[in-house]
Amino acid sequence: MESQSAAQSSHNSSETTNVAVSSWDDLTDGQQLCIDWARVQDWDRIKGYAKEHGPEVLLGVHSDKNSVASVLTEASHHQNVEVVKLTLEAGFDNKEAMNLAANISMRNSDNSTILRLLLEHGLDPNMDLRFEGVEKDFCNLLISAAYEGHIDQAITLLDHGANVNKIVVASNGDVASQLTFTMSYGAHDLFRLYLTRGAIPTTSDVFHAFNNCLGACKGLHPKLSRDVAIKMFTTFLHLGKPDSDVVQDQFNLHPPSRRDPTIANITKHYLQGRPFCCFVCEALTAKERDKLLMCPCRTVAYCSRECQLKHWKEHKVLCTGPLNERGESEAMVKKRSKTGKGAAAGGVNVGAADVGVAEGAGATGKNGKKGKKGKKGKKGKYYLDPESLRFRVGDKVQCRIGSDPATGWVNGTVMQLFYRENNWPPGQVAPYKIALEDGTDIYAPEDIPEVIRKPPS
Ligand SMILES: [Zn+2]
Ligand SMILES: [Zn+2]
Repeated sequence: MESQSAAQSSHNSSETTNVAVSSWDDLTDGQQLCIDWARVQDWDRIKGYAKEHGPEVLLGVHSDKNSVASVLTEASHHQNVEVVKLTLEAGFDNKEAMNLAANISMRNSDNSTILRLLLEHGLDPNMDLRFEGVEKDFCNLLISAAYEGHIDQAITLLDHGANVNKIVVASNGDVASQLTFTMSYGAHDLFRLYLTRGAIPTTSDVFHAFNNCLGACKGLHPKLSRDVAIKMFTTFLHLGKPDSDVVQDQFNLHPPSRRDPTIANITKHYLQGRPFCCFVCEALTAKERDKLLMCPCRTVAYCSRECQLKHWKEHKVLCTGPLNERGESEAMVKKRSKTGKGAAAGGVNVGAADVGVAEGAGATGKNGKKGKKGKKGKKGKYYLDPESLRFRVGDKVQCRIGSDPATGWVNGTVMQLFYRENNWPPGQVAPYKIALEDGTDIYAPEDIPEVIRKPPS
């Protein structure tokens, strides 16, 4: 299988290169004065001077040893929102200084006002100064937010187009993702946020998840306690749904002496497609007893009635009710007796979001409806970036359409990436449209191995 990290390692190269800084002598006298006053926080003087001589006195930028000096960076450093605003409105557009201002303000405060102003005035949330030849180390704003544990700033960045799947290449050549960094900082709420906002685990993330969490369980991690590590690991599998072959391989790399019973148990359940945590709050045990409460369909579990009720509106369209001895739900039995066909598409195992029947040429009639069964809450998971998907047009794949985890797979060919039907809500896309060998067109609602996989060789 194509390495996921390789597929995602191409960085967003939309960055432009307005990072040139003037030498001190290139600045006007007014710009020099304003930078000097900013250094001593004489803000009133700067405001008065700009009023008198025009806003361009605020626009000076110059390189100061290893860093960049400007009114903007100084004002960000001292959380002076008014002067930051004044400077940006004067037309400040030096990208390096804006990026630095963002980093400084994020380091100094969890308030996201200055960050938002910078983004609204053209700060590129995906900029990495290392690629501009400016910084030696990586410099990624989502990772900075995770490092500080500032979730509002992370949300602000994502809302302004930060790419949660952007790979960061450190100065020593190491490639790492936002997920890996965020996990190793112990920032569980940001880790969860990034997964809900579309972070797709790579092979390297799975490797680091085992490494970080198993290390933490042995008390060997500088930032992760065992409790937080287990929470991270649970969230990672529950929301990230990493490729199960990769999970199995990485798990096998660790000798029994290094394994942790809780991590091993979660992994085992995940690989068997069984629920291992409360679907809503990711608790590992029920509130009243040490086992989770299982929905009769056995695809989801909860810690409490409250969590079940919270999820019911979403789950009821997927819930197949109690299963018979053949592993079929009542609805599936009905359907089978009606059509005389074998068990129809139905999510029996956890994570086995149904493969819906596609509309259009070659579809099998009765279309559209089943598509609704695709899991909700996944909208926006797929940036319309083919690099984020595991397969390409023309790839031979297997799709899960039957209830049996072993025999419910059929062969097909990927026909289209990012498929959508007209009656879907805005923004909803399925990662693949697939032509099956029998001529049926279907779509896969999610790019997960429980739904679509490479044919066994
Ligand atoms: Zn719960
Ligand atoms: Zn159910």
